[in-house]
Amino acid sequence: MEKQNILFNLDDTLAYCNRYFNQVIGEFADQMTIWFDSITKEEIKQKQLQIDVAAISQHGLKSERFPESFIGTYKYFCDLTGKEKKKDEIQYLRKLGLKVFEIPVEPIPYMNETLQLLKEEGHELYLHTGGDEANQRRKIAQLELATYFENRVFISEHKDTTALSDILKTINADPKVTWMIGNSLRTDIVPALEMDIHAIYIPAETEWQYNVVEVNVEHSSAFLTVNSLQEVPAIIYQSINEQTMSTYR
Ligand SMILES: [Mg+2]
Repeated sequence: MEKQNILFNLDDTLAYCNRYFNQVIGEFADQMTIWFDSITKEEIKQKQLQIDVAAISQHGLKSERFPESFIGTYKYFCDLTGKEKKKDEIQYLRKLGLKVFEIPVEPIPYMNETLQLLKEEGHELYLHTGGDEANQRRKIAQLELATYFENRVFISEHKDTTALSDILKTINADPKVTWMIGNSLRTDIVPALEMDIHAIYIPAETEWQYNVVEVNVEHSSAFLTVNSLQEVPAIIYQSINEQTMSTYR
C-alpha cells in the first residue's frame, strides 16, 4: 500500500474535550443563577457561547478566551439587571474557567490501537490541533502522543485553510496521498476539502456549536464519514484500493 500522510486533529478526535468544557459551563451556569435569580441557565449558556465564539476571530483559540467569556457574560447580566459588579466574583469566575485546562484528558476509545496500526502500516502521522501551545503540549504529553507523531505536531491559534495550507507546504505533501481526520466540520473538514486532500469526518459525542457548519466545497478528493476512530484504518485502506483499481481500469 502506498504510504499516506495522515493528519489527525486532537480535541474530540483523539481525546475528549467538549465534555470538560460542558462540565465547567454547567458549574458556571449554576453559580450564575445563584447571583441572578431572574435569569435561566439556558440564557446564561447562550450568552456565554455567543461571547466565546465572537472572540475567536479576534483572539483565535487562545485559552484565556474561555474564562474571559464567563466574565463577559457576568458583566452583561450585571448591566442588564443592575447588579453591582464584584471583584471577588470576577476572580472566582476566572479561576473556574481556567479549571478546564487542568482536567486530565482521556483518550477516545481505540486511540492507541488505531494510531499504532496506521504507524505499523508505514504511514506518516501528523497532529494538527487548534489552541494554545502550552495547553496542547500538556495534552500531547499526557496522552504520550510523541510515540506516534514524534515532532510532526502543528499547533495553530487560527485553525483554518491558511493554517492547513502552510502545513501541507511544510511537509511537502502530495494531496492525492494526504488525509485530514477530525470532528470539526469548520476547522478540519472544510479546510481539507478546500485544499483538495481527503477528509474523514468523525462526529463527536457532543459538539461545540462553533464547529458545526454546512460543507459546500467543490473537491475531487474523498470525503468520508465514520462513527468511530477504530474504523479509520480500514476505510483508508479500502479507499486507496478503490483509487488504485480506478487508475488501472
Ligand atoms: Mg477537534
